[in-house]
Amino acid sequence: MRGPFHLDKELLPIVRTIGEEAAGRSAPAYLVGGIVRDLMLGIRNLDLDIVFEGDAVSLARTLASKLNASLVVHEKFGTATMNLENGLRVDLVTARKETYPHPGALPVVSRGNIRDDLFRRDLTVNAMALAIDPKGLLTLVDEFGGREDLRRKRIRILHELSFQDDPTRILRAVRFEQRFGFRIEAKTLRLLKAALSNRLEERVKPERYFHEFHKMLREPKPWKNIQRLKELNGCGFLGKGVRISAAELGLLRSGQQSVFFYRRAVPHDEIEPALVELMALLYRTREGELDRFIKKFNLSKPHQVCLRQMRRWDMVRRSLSRKAVDPSDVYRALVEFRTETLLFFRAQKSGGLVRRRLDEFLTKLRFVQLSVDGEDLKRLGIEGSQRMGKILDSLLDMKIDGRLATREDELNMAGRLAKEIGPSR
Ligand code: ATP
Repeated sequence: MRGPFHLDKELLPIVRTIGEEAAGRSAPAYLVGGIVRDLMLGIRNLDLDIVFEGDAVSLARTLASKLNASLVVHEKFGTATMNLENGLRVDLVTARKETYPHPGALPVVSRGNIRDDLFRRDLTVNAMALAIDPKGLLTLVDEFGGREDLRRKRIRILHELSFQDDPTRILRAVRFEQRFGFRIEAKTLRLLKAALSNRLEERVKPERYFHEFHKMLREPKPWKNIQRLKELNGCGFLGKGVRISAAELGLLRSGQQSVFFYRRAVPHDEIEPALVELMALLYRTREGELDRFIKKFNLSKPHQVCLRQMRRWDMVRRSLSRKAVDPSDVYRALVEFRTETLLFFRAQKSGGLVRRRLDEFLTKLRFVQLSVDGEDLKRLGIEGSQRMGKILDSLLDMKIDGRLATREDELNMAGRLAKEIGPSR
C-alpha cells in the first residue's frame, strides 16, 4: 500500500475488499476512530471500524459472504459486525448525523456524510477518517485538526457543547490524555471543569457513566487516570461516602503490581484487573454506602462478589499471620475467594509471612490436584457422595501438605480413611 498509512498485513486484504465493494456501490467507505489515531501514533490496533456513506448493512452482507465471516446485524441502528475466521472483527455503520434538540437530550439521528459522522465524535484525535479506495489506498480526512493535535499532544473537543451533549466525554478526555501522556488544551479544560462543577454527569444514566469510568480502570496506568480525575474534582459521581485519597491511590498502584506479579507467574489464567482496582478504591467505603454504590451503578455479579469478599481481609490476614499454619490451612482459608480478591489482599500492607502464603496459594496450592477421583473411590467400595466428598477433601489436604506423593499413596490413604470414617448411613 502506498501512502503514509501502513496497515497491519493482516488487515490489508480485508480493507481492500471493503474498498472494492464500496466503489462498486458508488459510495465511499472510511476507516474511523481509534485505529486511525493509533496508525498515526505507530500503535498496533486491529479494531476495524468502518463508516459507509451508503447502506452499511447491505454492504456488510456482501462482504461477509466474500470474506467468509459470520455476521451480526442491528437493522434498527444500521450497524453490522463481521467476525472473521482469523478472529478479527469489523464493525460497519452507515454514516450518521446527530442533532441534540437541547443540551443533555438524546440525540436525533439521521443519515449523514462522513463529516457529519466525524462531527458527532468526542475528541479531535478520535475524529479522523481514512477514505478507502478500491485498491486499498488510504487518504486522510481530517476536518477538525486531529492530526495537528496529535502532533502537539493535545486533547481537544470538537465544539463548545460537546460535554453538555454527552458528559461521558469528560472521562474520555481524561482517559486519552493519560493514556498518551497528552495535555487537555486550555479551552477544553475550562469547559470540562465547568461541566463538572455544574454536575452535568448526573444527567447521564449512572450505568453508562460508570461503564466509561470502568474503562479508566482498564488502562495501563489506572491510578494516573484516577489521580487526574480527582485533581479535576471529577470523582464526586462515585458518591459522598467514597473518598479517594493518597491511601486509595497507593492501594490502586500496589493492586496493579499484584496483577503484574500474577500475570508473570500464571500467564494462562484470565483475570479482570479492573476488579482489583475497584476494590482498592472502595475498600474504606462503609457497608451501607457500598450497597448504594452497587445499586446505583447496577454492578455485575463479579463486581458484587469482589466487593463483598474484600470486607473479609482483616479476618484472612489474621488467620494467615498465625505461626503454626500448614499449607492446607492456607488452602482452606483462601479457596473460596476469586483470584481478583486474592490479588487485592496481596496489595494490602501485611507482613512478609502473609504475603508469602498468599503467593504460595496463588501460584501453587490452588493448582494441586488429586490423581484419584470419585470413580476410584467407588472401585474401592466407598459409597455415598458426602462420604466420598469428605475423603477427597482430606486426601487433597494431605497432598497439599506433601504427605501423599503417588497415586498409590492416595489409594492406600483413601482405604484407610474409609475405615476411620466408617460406613455411610
Ligand atoms: P480504544 O483504544 O480505547 O478502544 P477507541 O477510540 O477505539 O479507543 P471506543 O470507546 O471504542 O474508543 O470508541 C470508538 C470511537 O467512537 C472513538 O474513537 C470515538 O470516535 C467514538 N466515540 C466513542 N465514545 C464516544 C462518545 N461518548 N462521544 C462521541 N464519540 C465517541
